[in-house]
Amino acid sequence: MAVPFLPRTDRPAFYRSAGLVALAGALPDLLCPHLSLAGRYTSWSHTVFAYAGFNLVLLGLALLPRIRILRRTLLLASLAWALHLAMDGISGGIAWLYPFSGEVLGERLVRYYWWFRIDVVLTVIAIAVFWLWPACRRNRASQPERSALSEGERAG
Ligand SMILES: [Zn+2]
Repeated sequence: MAVPFLPRTDRPAFYRSAGLVALAGALPDLLCPHLSLAGRYTSWSHTVFAYAGFNLVLLGLALLPRIRILRRTLLLASLAWALHLAMDGISGGIAWLYPFSGEVLGERLVRYYWWFRIDVVLTVIAIAVFWLWPACRRNRASQPERSALSEGERAG
C-alpha cells in the first residue's frame, strides 16, 4: 500500500524505504511472536506503549542529521505499524493497555479460519504491487504524451 508514496529518487532509496516500511508493518509480530489470540493479548508489541515507543524511535531517526531517511518513509513506517494493529483489531482485537489492563480493543470480524488465507492473499498482492508498480511507472514515463504525439502527427 505504501509503494505509490515511496521515494523515487533512485532505486536503492526506493528499496531501502520499502524494506523499512515492510519491516515496520511486521515488527509487532516479529518482536513478540505468538500463534494464538491469547498470545496476542499478552504481547507487549501490540500495545499503545510499544507504538508510542516505536514512534519515538522514528522521531529520533528523523532528527538525526547523519542518517538520511526521508521523513515520508518514517511516516509510512509509523502508519504500517498502526495498520498492523488495526488489522489485528478486526481479527480478534488487541490488549492495547497490556500489562496495565487486559481490556481488548477491537472485534472478531475476521474468523481464525480466514487469518492465514487472507495473509497469503495480502502477501501475494503486496509482492505484486511492489514489483509491478515501479515497472508500470517506468513504462508510463517512457511513452510519449498524447498531446506531443498528436502535435508530431499534425506536423508530419
Ligand atoms: Zn500482530
